Amino acid sequence: MTRTPFIAGNWKMNTNKASAVALAKAVAAGATSSAVQVGIAPPFVYLDAVSQVISGSSVLLGAQDVYFEGDGAFTGEISIAMLKDLGVKFVLTGHSERRHVLGESPTLIARKAKAVFDGGLILVHCVGEKLEQRDANQTLDVVKAQLDELASVPADISRLVIAYEPVWAIGTGRTASDAQAQEVHAFIRQHLATRFGKDVADAVRIQYGGSVKPDNARGLLSQTDIDGALVGGAALKADGFLAISAAAV
Ligand code: PEP
Repeated sequence: MTRTPFIAGNWKMNTNKASAVALAKAVAAGATSSAVQVGIAPPFVYLDAVSQVISGSSVLLGAQDVYFEGDGAFTGEISIAMLKDLGVKFVLTGHSERRHVLGESPTLIARKAKAVFDGGLILVHCVGEKLEQRDANQTLDVVKAQLDELASVPADISRLVIAYEPVWAIGTGRTASDAQAQEVHAFIRQHLATRFGKDVADAVRIQYGGSVKPDNARGLLSQTDIDGALVGGAALKADGFLAISAAAV
């Protein structure tokens, strides 16, 4: 089974309008290989400007979050339809900062994931254990429970992406070893096979995330069950981000 690697940049709460446009322009100019899919998820307020800059390129526009309701009295929230209006193609759910900094519950995350599927967008569902959970040998149980936030898979399996991001490796400069990452990725694929069947599990792309940089990307991306990367800090410089993308091919 060949799975096209997917390298996605999560810009988090960084950039301003001018730097977001410049970064998007540089990524779009450099992302020319059809052997790897590249995506960028800027802050909501710059989605429109970035969408215009990457229009006509192969770069996918992503959103860092979404609300599950279609419309109505939900002050400050953004719907799937609003994202689609701006050309968004993928949405993150379950990112560790939303789980552990913003306090999102598994129930809320599950509703958001369902809304992304129902809305026809690509879902990048993030899972990963905290350091104390790894130390207590709970990694696989934690990851399993977070995968089970997905009640179903979309008919088009290319719209489901899992990102394994150990919380202790995000923004810390500390990355999982190639073997540690591969072990959890293999478990994720096996669990998806149990729940949704082998064909689904074989087709799903599983990204690794957590301090991925140009110098550690090749080792991680060459693992059997690692099909791309979700990149935070290193996605804020076009050269480094494009070097990570090149390492996926
Ligand atoms: C992330 O936010 O998804 C992430 C992996 O961040 P970083 O690459 O900075 O660790």
